[in-house]
Amino acid sequence: MGSLRKAKLAINVIRNLGSKISTRSCRNPVLEANNYQLKQQCVSVNSPSRSNISRVSWYSPKKFNSFHTFGRQTHKGRPFLSRSYHSSRAHALNLIPPGLRRILLRVLVGGVVITIWGLERIPYSGRFHVILLSEDLTREIGENTFNGKMKTYEGKILPETHPESVRVKSIANDIIKALEKGLKNEKLGSGLGYNGFKAATYHLEGLDWEIFVVNEPTVRASVCYSGKIFVSTGLFDVLRTDAEIATAIAHEVGHVVARHGAEDISKKLWLIILKNMVKRWIFDIGDEITKPIFEAYDFLLLPFRRRNEMEADYIGLLLLASAGYDPQVAPQVYEKLGKVSGDSPLDDYLATHPSGKKRAKALSQAKVMAEALGIYNESRSNILLEMMRMSVI
Ligand SMILES: [Zn+2]
Repeated sequence: MGSLRKAKLAINVIRNLGSKISTRSCRNPVLEANNYQLKQQCVSVNSPSRSNISRVSWYSPKKFNSFHTFGRQTHKGRPFLSRSYHSSRAHALNLIPPGLRRILLRVLVGGVVITIWGLERIPYSGRFHVILLSEDLTREIGENTFNGKMKTYEGKILPETHPESVRVKSIANDIIKALEKGLKNEKLGSGLGYNGFKAATYHLEGLDWEIFVVNEPTVRASVCYSGKIFVSTGLFDVLRTDAEIATAIAHEVGHVVARHGAEDISKKLWLIILKNMVKRWIFDIGDEITKPIFEAYDFLLLPFRRRNEMEADYIGLLLLASAGYDPQVAPQVYEKLGKVSGDSPLDDYLATHPSGKKRAKALSQAKVMAEALGIYNESRSNILLEMMRMSVI
């Protein structure tokens, strides 16, 4: 099923659910008499074409009674406990206008449907995340970012034949080959084929990886989600060996593997969906209200971005090892980069990236490094075997 059709289906489910529930449970005439006040409140919230009874009756008193009965039966000998518990819950729910209850139910059910629909597992790390964007849209956004970067770096990109371009391209090729090899090996990394929930790798199929060297003194590497990587020549002043440069490139590839860009946009989409729901069902919320909310939300997302950086470090570490580069250089690389950017303890709380020290510490953990070294040793043996085979031929 195409992503668009899936999205339409999910939206229809959410739209229809509220009306289905209200129509099903509106047959109790007692409710109409008992909830006159509630019905009056509903008129202002819902469209006039539907029955008032249906709007209020989905949470019927009959259901409350069944709750009481259930409570008394399960708490035999403790009637006071069961009665007071259910009564207070019923009372609390009655305080919410039925129209609002219906909206909240839609939001809740909608949230669950969308979450299940967008749930994916990340290769290597095995973490679950929710992606609301189709892969086509992610790549389109990636291509737009790429076109923007190409304009920004116009006249600064080194030609393909430049020795720095040749060197960096060769390193990037090693990392991409390691990724392709890893995706075929279901056991590589804790996320692949783990516990029966297979990691999502479809977004990496047919990705057109390319790397560009930008002639500028900044110490920088970045990636577009369509597989285009940029490294600045300033990076080579800090990271001198192939293994160090490979660490930076593998980190960028790690972001694409984990779909961090799509995840970040998806988190913002939740707020946009909520805003549209409020606009449609409660009141017309203006930009003067939403703008500070979006800014505050962006600030709240910072810890998730730092977590994603650490995850790209980890995926990058495994790719580095699988490509035959010594993973033990990676912690030193992040320490070096941290010094360049001027590490401060505040980075761990206020920046988009965690401090270099924290990143180095995470990768130096015995369990993490042992996993990377295991992959590295296997990879080195395979490379040696391949070299021996080539020399014999
Ligand atoms: Zn990063």
